[in-house]
Amino acid sequence: MIKTDIRSYFPILDQEINGHPLVYLDSAATTQKPIQVIEAIKHYYENENSNVHRGVHTLGNRATDSYEGAREKVRKFINAKSTEEIIFTRGTTDSLNMVAASFGRANVGEGDEIVITYMEHHSNLIPWQQLAKEKNATLKYIDMNPDGTLSMDKVKEAITDQTKIVSIAFASNVLGTVNPIKEIAAVAHAHGAVIVVDGAQGVPHFKTDVQDLDCDFLAFSGHKMCGPTGIGVLYGKKEHLENMEPLDFGGEMISIVGLYESTWADLPYKFEGGTPNIAGAIGLGAAIDFLEEIGMDNIIEHEHNLSRYAIEKLSAIDGVSIYGPHDPTKRSGLVTFNIDGVHPHDVATILDMEGIAVRAGHHCAQPLMKWLECTATARASFYVYNTEADIDRLVEGLRTAKEYFANVNE
Ligand code: PLP
Repeated sequence: MIKTDIRSYFPILDQEINGHPLVYLDSAATTQKPIQVIEAIKHYYENENSNVHRGVHTLGNRATDSYEGAREKVRKFINAKSTEEIIFTRGTTDSLNMVAASFGRANVGEGDEIVITYMEHHSNLIPWQQLAKEKNATLKYIDMNPDGTLSMDKVKEAITDQTKIVSIAFASNVLGTVNPIKEIAAVAHAHGAVIVVDGAQGVPHFKTDVQDLDCDFLAFSGHKMCGPTGIGVLYGKKEHLENMEPLDFGGEMISIVGLYESTWADLPYKFEGGTPNIAGAIGLGAAIDFLEEIGMDNIIEHEHNLSRYAIEKLSAIDGVSIYGPHDPTKRSGLVTFNIDGVHPHDVATILDMEGIAVRAGHHCAQPLMKWLECTATARASFYVYNTEADIDRLVEGLRTAKEYFANVNE
């Protein structure tokens, strides 16, 4: 049973930074890890550590069972049909690059279109830029509404019979916008295109059902959902994965190796060349157990409540602009903002002096910054351990930053 005081599961939060109790508002960059995840990794190294899939010995079998058990937890978590469709990767960036380099290279040709949006993280932009250049294909952007949402009219305008791949963020890491993936998938499929979903800011926050969304690929990172760094997932429909070439050649991913020719292992192993991140996968499995015990519906409801509260409180500060849709139910748990006359890096530095961690910069979304007509923003992002009291501290900190810079600029 999970206690109502969720914060108490996160040892790192129980500390002071610059003489103030830590308020961590940077979960969109990476989340903190609950004791259950830390213990699962410790347990693995203390009791099971061995290589997977090859040992006949007991430790090898224990490690394999735990690693494959984690794969089954991931499958269930996103409702994939089979564990053959779950590939462990290093994270979202790795997963998206795999789709572009394997599926993209084989299926995109000269004159074809790849459709993305202005709100994409660089990880869901540069792999497609590179592929478009290599293949002489066209990279197309879906226009956004002024509030940073997508309208289906614009989606239908952008996707044509020339489109081979549509790749879209489940939720924007800057605007918080949650995109209508199921509807966009239907349009993509009607034109014979596949849809790739960058789930980095979606899967950690709300229930994700790949069969219901009917997405062809879904990428996400363990470290943004209470899991360890260095582990992520690429979900792909079996019919696509079966026809794709592997990218990492070597151990683990082969079936029969000859002197001049080799054949590949079955799914998902043909995409997992080399010794995998076993402890990472086990840690991700423990993170999924933790999130499921809280309940994904409870998590997004909690984030909507925090976003509503934050938008209300921040809007009441003179000179604060908030980006993205203002309706908290149309976004994930983050608020991106700027204060007139104060650079976001200065905002973040002053907040850090008060023990409050926020992110400042372009958030790996430079085309979006251009679209927003600014060079950088500050971002406060929330997760299961945040409370309204954290937002009160943020508001206090912002008032301090404003006063400080008003005096400096006088
Ligand atoms: N996509 C989005 C929307 C993100 O927010 C991030 C990370 O911030 C990524 C992709 C890249 O994730 P990772 O660095 O874990 O590969």
